[in-house]
This record gives sequence, C-alpha cells and structure tokens, in this order.
Amino acid sequence: MSVTPSRRVAALGENVFSTYSRLAEQHAAINLGQGFPDFDPPAFVLEALAESRHHHQQYAPLPGLKALSDEVVAAHQPGFDHALEPVANILVTVGATEGLFGAMQAFVDPGDEVILFEPFYDAYPADVSMAGGHPRFVPLRLHEGTWHLDLDEFAGAASDRTKMIVVNSPHNPTGKVFSDDELDAIISVAAEREAVIVSDEVYEHLSFTPHRRIAARPGGWERTVSLHSFGKTFSATGWKIGWAIGPEQLIRSLRNAHQWIPFVVATPLQAAAAAVLRTVREAGGGYYHELAAAFERKRDLLVAALAATPLEPIVPDGGYFVLADSRALAYTDDVALCLDLPRRCGVVAIPPSAFYSEENRYLAKHLVRFAFCKEDAVLRQAAERLGTL
Ligand code: PMP
Ligand code: GLN
Repeated sequence: MSVTPSRRVAALGENVFSTYSRLAEQHAAINLGQGFPDFDPPAFVLEALAESRHHHQQYAPLPGLKALSDEVVAAHQPGFDHALEPVANILVTVGATEGLFGAMQAFVDPGDEVILFEPFYDAYPADVSMAGGHPRFVPLRLHEGTWHLDLDEFAGAASDRTKMIVVNSPHNPTGKVFSDDELDAIISVAAEREAVIVSDEVYEHLSFTPHRRIAARPGGWERTVSLHSFGKTFSATGWKIGWAIGPEQLIRSLRNAHQWIPFVVATPLQAAAAAVLRTVREAGGGYYHELAAAFERKRDLLVAALAATPLEPIVPDGGYFVLADSRALAYTDDVALCLDLPRRCGVVAIPPSAFYSEENRYLAKHLVRFAFCKEDAVLRQAAERLGTL
C-alpha cells in the first residue's frame, strides 16, 4: 500500500516512553523510565470504579458529568480568588493530554508561536505542530542544583506572534516548582502579547514545597487555562481523565474544540472520579497531604540511593522524577547511556534529550531521568543495580 501519512504526522516519530517501556520488557529490566505507578490506586478508588460500572452507560453532557464538575469546583475553589462555576469554568477532559491538544487546537492558528520551556513534556511541541503553530524554546538553566528561568531570555523569546505560553509546575522532568517571580513574569509577557497561558498542573498534589497556582497570581486568572490529572493524583494513570479550569471565555473555546475531539469523556470513569473526590472531601482532604508525603519519601529514598552510585542526583521539589548527572560514567550522551543501562544493569531510564529541541539537545547530554513513582523495594533494587556501574 502506498498511502503516505500526513506531513504533520510523518514528522512526529515514536514517543520516548513507548520506546523505553518496550526496552524494559525486552530486557525484563526494572522500569524507572515511563512515569506510572507500579502499585494499585487506594482501595476507595477501586471501589468507586467497581460501583460506577453498574450505572452511567450512556454519553455524559459535553462539559462533563455534573457530579464531577461540582466536586472539581469544591476541590479547587480554595486555591482560586474567583468563584468557580461547574459548567462555565470547568471542562472534563481525557486526561491532561486531551486538555493540551484541545488548548492548542482552540487557541493556536497556523503561524502562531507558542513559548515552551525546555526541557518540556514531549507532547507540547507535537501538539503545537499539529495545530500548525511554531514552538519557541526557552531553556531552563541549571545553576548549583536549582533550575531557573532566565527572565531576560524569556522576554526576548516573545514576539507579536506569541499566542500561548505553556508552563508546567511542578515540572516534568526537572521537578522544578516555578517561583512567584517567574510566574509573574509569565503573566506579564502573556498580558503584553495578549497570549493565553496553559498551566499544566498535573503534579499539583505531588509538590514537596507549597504548590503555586499561576491563575491565583495578580492578572493570572483571566488568561490562564489550568490542566489537572486524576490519573496522577490517584495513581491511576490508565484512567485518562482530567479537567481544565479557566475563565468562561477560554473554557468555551476549549469546549468547542473538545466537542470534535472525544466529544465527551467516558461516563463510568467520570462518575467514579466524582465519587473519589467526594470521599476525599468528606474525609477532610487529608488524602492529598498523605500523597505528597508518601511521594516525598520515595523521592528521598531514590535521591539517597543514587547518591551512593556514580550518578549525581539533582533534588526535585515535586513530580514523579529525579534527574541525575551522569558525567562520571563517561558516555558520549544520554541516549547512549539509556540504551546501555538495561543490558549493563537491568534498569531502564529516560534520556532527557527527548525533552529538548534539536538546537538545545546538548544541554541534556549528561542527564538521565528516573521515575520514583514505584514501590520502595523496586527503587532500592534499582539503586543497588545502578551501584554496580
Ligand atoms: N503533563 C505532564 C507534565 C505529564 O507528565 C503528563 C504525564 N502523563 C501529562 C501532562 C499527561 O497527563 P494525563 O495522563 O492526565 O493525560
Ligand atoms: N508523563 C509520563 C512521563 O513523563 C508518561 C506519559 C506517557 O507515557 N505519555 O513519563
């Protein structure tokens, strides 16, 4: 057959997570590559799913099941100065992934520019190019173990064509939590260029310092769509359910795009997610604190274990991942190291160059990403194996 893919898709190639999860299977290696928990969600989450399968077999309303939108409002209202309305300000999405794709479709025209900070979550440039836009990359700078946004460099990347700025905090893969100054600078550039801010907050409950919402900063609300992930917060990444929060006008545009992407999100999952949020709310929200504390312990475990190997960990403030400096191992680059790791010691990691543009890929040459959303015993065993390098 000689049917060629569209130019848009032909340019994309396979994503790094599929490649390295396959490598983990081939070598029966410990998979610290792709970010998904290797443990079950809490029992009350599984019970909510078991219960919801008996009901809710037909399409949900376009904005999302009312029970879920109401719970999203209740869960998020304390973080916002504006009164949230379930339909006007919330859209239930197929994970944050659909929120990202939908936002690019909703706001980016061919020729528009989207500012992305590097390293970036790999879906961002793909989503920009599928919308016909052009990414403008601004590298985060690592200085004495801390990642910074250079505000001048950032301002210099903006132009009349800037239509969107994507910020992800806590950040994948660095674990950086953006400071108030950095968030304010993003708002100020967005306001000057009349651009929309997409705030990817999938790790909001996996923050080991207080989570800062850009929409709650002065001038932030009216131009920000924030994206949230049930999968991350409840260790159920396979559910692929999330929600967008924003002002009515932006959510309306996102909903217009969404109606032609999935139309609506799986009803039984929405009902189960609503029941889960309700359970957490009625119990006083302690779940969120316990989750952050549990992941902070996992972070500490992996950081301490890596410190005893030739890999030098860079301590993250949030998220699922630790980046480490691999210079002591003298590989030519991160891909060479990550392709060799499963064979040499039975561990899979992700080469962070997958999260950089061509022009800045060299910045990732001596970095390697490990996921710590895994059982403690698995993290210990992986670190032992890495210690043999
Ligand atoms: N954004 C970031 C930064 C992520 O790491 C992920 C990981 N899956 C996503 C978005 C996608 O979230 P979801 O699984 O809810 O689609
Ligand atoms: N967000 C996860 C990671 O960064 C994986 C998501 C995916 O497989 N697309 O590893």
